[in-house]
Amino acid sequence: MSIDAFTYSPNAARIVFGYGSLSRIGEEIQRLGCKRVLVLSTPGHLQHAERVAETLGAAASGIFDGAVMHVPIETALAARAEARRTHADGIVAIGGGSTTGLAKAIALELPVPIVAIPTTYAGSEMTPIYGLTEGGSKRTGREPKVLPKCVIYDPALTHELPIPLSIASAMNAIAHAAEGLYAADRNPVTDLLAEAGIRAIASAIPKLVADPHDRDARSDCLYGAWLCGTVLGMVGMGLHHKLCHTLGGAFGLPHAETHGCLLPHALAYNASCATSAMTSIARALGRPSAPAGLYELAAESGATLALRDIGLREDQIDRAVHLAIASPYPNPRPLERAALRRLIVNAWAGERPLD
Ligand code: NAD
Repeated sequence: MSIDAFTYSPNAARIVFGYGSLSRIGEEIQRLGCKRVLVLSTPGHLQHAERVAETLGAAASGIFDGAVMHVPIETALAARAEARRTHADGIVAIGGGSTTGLAKAIALELPVPIVAIPTTYAGSEMTPIYGLTEGGSKRTGREPKVLPKCVIYDPALTHELPIPLSIASAMNAIAHAAEGLYAADRNPVTDLLAEAGIRAIASAIPKLVADPHDRDARSDCLYGAWLCGTVLGMVGMGLHHKLCHTLGGAFGLPHAETHGCLLPHALAYNASCATSAMTSIARALGRPSAPAGLYELAAESGATLALRDIGLREDQIDRAVHLAIASPYPNPRPLERAALRRLIVNAWAGERPLD
């Protein structure tokens, strides 16, 4: 074994994991010294926020159920105003990446610790990355103060996540780990986390498809999502995340599904320049090839494979290619217009990834 020089800079968050862990929200709030927390959710999952507020009693200052995808600035302003109005000294975000993102937008401006209770596999709860959408474009940044202080992972909350969305969200998590395995700033620990995260999720997906209420499979997926999110929080991402960000922002494609459609193709693009990452991913999947293995896993699970099925029109492909290479970013393989176009065309049609 030979270890190259590296820097390891973990993000400190307390993790409370397991079935029933939601009931520990009160003690976790107390541990942070909070007396009045604002509880956030999306409009569709107000019942989750109400359950948390009920458990907290007087320690809940109110509920804001206005979280929506990509944190529009108007939503962030309204949520901050509600936090101020209710004199909140902490935030509890129960939901997917959209709800966690709203909590981060509040913590960017106000001195409030966040407790995140994720209900998808997106992984935002483990990162100091925030995003805000203004005037049609999303700006992202890294800011340590938006990193949740505590994350409660209760797999029971994920049982109602529909299977197609579960698979897409699981692919979103795997994407963090896969790109983490070829990130220039990765280290031996992120490599371990990434491979273990992919393995946990990949082995759980078939069980989840067979039975959406399989407790072990739900638990393994959320555990894998934690590991993959931890990788996302520590290292830089490449082509795949850039493509998802660009296509999601420019064409309004749904976040998790975009990851699911693109990941096998982005990995195929990078495969020849990231052989050791591909070996780790394939080993974690238990399949001979990383790109083909992920494509097959998604196809066998009935996941959406084609960008055209989630809203990308064929006449938008050229603009997508243009946006993908408009600004440079780190990636193991240099960005080549013709090859990128082939990648996007293939993902648009939902074909097998190119060799
Ligand atoms: P989301 O939070 O919008 O959730 C997707 C859908 O799933 C929504 O319709 C939601 O109502 C539903 N849902 C969530 N939990 C559910 C449950 N348990 N049961 C049934 N339905 C449920 O989307 P997401 O995919 O979780 O997150 C995407 C957002 O997060 C994007 O804005 C993305 O940019 C951001 N994100 C940020 C980071 C980061 O590090 N900052 C990381 C990953 C994702």
